[in-house]
Amino acid sequence: MPFQIAFLNIFKRRDASVRDGTIDAIEQMVKYLLDLHPDYKKNSLLAEHLNSYGKLSYRDKLDKLPWIYLHIEKDMLDNASTNVLSSDILREKVRERFPELQNLLSFKIIFLPSAIQEILLCRLLVKGVMQRSLNVLGHFKDPFLIEAQMELDKPIDLYEQEINIPTQKKRLLTISLDIFYKLKDSLGENAILNVYHSVYKKYFGNYYLLDAFTATLNIVPEDFLNQEMVDLPSKRQMHKMLQHQVGSLEAINNKLMLEVVERKKTQATLEDSERLKSMILETAQDGVILFDGDFKIKTTNRRAAEILGYPMDFLYSCRLHTLGSPAFGEILERYATKYTENRKKTTYGHREEVKSFTGSGKPIDLEISINPIKLGEELLYNTFIRDITEKKLHEFELTKAREIAERSAMAKSVFLSNMSHEIRTPLNVILGLSGLLKDGHGNDKISNTNNIESIHYSAENLLHLVNDILDFSALDSGKVMLEKNNFDLHLLVEKLSRGFFVKAKEKGLEFNVKINQDIPHGLLGDHRRLSQILNNLLGNAIKYTHKGKVFLNIKIIQQTEKNIKLHFTVKDTGIGIREDKLNEIFQSFYQIPQQTNYKNEGTGLGLSISKQLVELHGSSLGVESIYELGSSFSFSIRYDKNETIQDSTPSDKVSYEDEEGRLKTLRILVVEDNKLNQLYIKQLLKQWYIDVSFANNGALGIEAVMQKNFDLVLMDLHMPIMDGFEATSTLRKSGIATPIIACSADVFEASRKKAFEAGVNFYLTKPVRPEKMKKLLLNYSKGIPNKI
Ligand code: ADP
Repeated sequence: MPFQIAFLNIFKRRDASVRDGTIDAIEQMVKYLLDLHPDYKKNSLLAEHLNSYGKLSYRDKLDKLPWIYLHIEKDMLDNASTNVLSSDILREKVRERFPELQNLLSFKIIFLPSAIQEILLCRLLVKGVMQRSLNVLGHFKDPFLIEAQMELDKPIDLYEQEINIPTQKKRLLTISLDIFYKLKDSLGENAILNVYHSVYKKYFGNYYLLDAFTATLNIVPEDFLNQEMVDLPSKRQMHKMLQHQVGSLEAINNKLMLEVVERKKTQATLEDSERLKSMILETAQDGVILFDGDFKIKTTNRRAAEILGYPMDFLYSCRLHTLGSPAFGEILERYATKYTENRKKTTYGHREEVKSFTGSGKPIDLEISINPIKLGEELLYNTFIRDITEKKLHEFELTKAREIAERSAMAKSVFLSNMSHEIRTPLNVILGLSGLLKDGHGNDKISNTNNIESIHYSAENLLHLVNDILDFSALDSGKVMLEKNNFDLHLLVEKLSRGFFVKAKEKGLEFNVKINQDIPHGLLGDHRRLSQILNNLLGNAIKYTHKGKVFLNIKIIQQTEKNIKLHFTVKDTGIGIREDKLNEIFQSFYQIPQQTNYKNEGTGLGLSISKQLVELHGSSLGVESIYELGSSFSFSIRYDKNETIQDSTPSDKVSYEDEEGRLKTLRILVVEDNKLNQLYIKQLLKQWYIDVSFANNGALGIEAVMQKNFDLVLMDLHMPIMDGFEATSTLRKSGIATPIIACSADVFEASRKKAFEAGVNFYLTKPVRPEKMKKLLLNYSKGIPNKI
């Protein structure tokens, strides 16, 4: 390496007197670079530059270090055969190898990123201009210049964010231009141009090979650039700068484009999500309301408007807590005015049920849940509202149905136990006493008669029970129809009272009957049902009274020519009924639970039947009672008057005794499968000396009628082989006109109807009452078949 050695010798020789570490480092660096140089030529321009650099003073060597470095670098790159060697790589190596040289700021600039190089070079230039002008002026008077000087004296942070670079450049340009014009005013144009020229030249000389130097052109005034003596960076540098600027513009443009695309995407996503949100809101089955601390609605949906029953516009114009019921407003106030973080954990979001009403005043049940939402500084409340009116109604109905089911299950078991008691009591008497009679105990006639009467009484009770149950079931299924017969109320009451006088007397009670004598004797109506109602009420009055009186009072409350409205009252001084039980006593199978000194008797059906019968008459059964003082049951019924027929009430006791003889001539066929019934009928008819024949079923009955002439046939309906319906219709079809009386335990209306359709003349229910049978037979013997 002869060239290098020669160069180094010159270098050393010249600087021997002022040698220090820096110069050594510079020397080492130059040596290092030339070693790397791909083709260093002794008589090249670079060799000349190195030669002249070596001759410089110590101070100048430091100052011109960038100049020589950049020239070596340029020459190396110009001679490099590959692209592998680049300024970046070289600079990186030098920076690592010769760190001490980085202490020289003027040299260090070369190794910084180009954007910072630009700033630093511009600053150096402006600072230089300021310094030089100050040297001429002595001091600055202008506040701007003072401030600018201070600003430029402040060290800058080289590694500050890149984003500040354009701002910095712009600021430097402003300062530079202001300085130019201000100093131009003070110094004159030529002087200031000279100042710029000398400073520019200094930095140009050192850095013109650095691409970043072109940036200084941006901050020098145009007037200066127009000067012919100004050296400009090379075309290549200018071109590079332009490329660089265009490149960064393109980058900025691309970045902007990307940003625009991104923003558009975000916008679209936002729009989509907005659309989605409003779709969700609009199709929600729950009402959604977002309101603020003043109860003003911020957002709501269609469903909320529907539920609350107000138009959407109205909702937005009013304050939410003023709508609907006070309870509704109270819930909103409770949540919205007492918000605390603690509460949030416990109550918010919980569903609350509240009764309210819609805009049109319709009652609604609402389920509300409220959640606070913090939107910046504002606290909003998101409310979900659900219409649960239907659900509540169902719940209510379910509860009611369950209560009814429970009550009826209870009533059923109470009923069964009562029923068992009610049936067993008379059966006990019947079985017990009939047993005694059978075994021949109690031979004297009086006690026998007493026993038989008791048996009879018990059997009557049993029948009463069975009738009640049948009535109850018929009423329950709406099968009871009122009949319209002629009757005399005075006679009916007289007959009815007779039994109750006896019962009252037995209990030591007074029994008073008061009936308005103006009530006509001929009335049209269902006397049987009236008797049944009065029997029930009077029966209860005596049953539940232990001392005092029982009254029956019948008054006229309205009368026309055609009809009369009567008011019936049954009053007692008995145990009374507590107020809370007054409604319940009319329920079927209901009995007031154990009262003092009193044991329930009966089935709990009486009042329920009576009530329904009264209602069938288009009236209602009322009750008034004071506990432990007494009760009063009352109702009113309108009856048509029947002036023409005055007598023949069925309960009318008519003596037929003298006519009994006529019955002897009758020949009767009894078609009956039950031997005991046969036994009874036989004995009953024999006492009137009637000629009785028996047939065990319908088929045998037909045979008998075909063989022998009978005046009358008593036909049971339910029999084996052939029943009474079939037998009757067969007889009728074969032209037999003999009167046939259906005699059955079946009391149902449907059976009665069927029997008449088959051709019976009359329908007699079992148990057959001797009195009734006698009257019927007498009528037949007189030739009035259907009259009874
Ligand atoms: P029952 O008499 O067979 O128990 P009811 O339906 O006639 O059934 O009456 C229902 C209940 O009403 C009775 O069990 C009794 O507790 C009460 N009650 C009815 N009438 C009277 C009355 N006159 N005084 C006091 N309690 C009465």
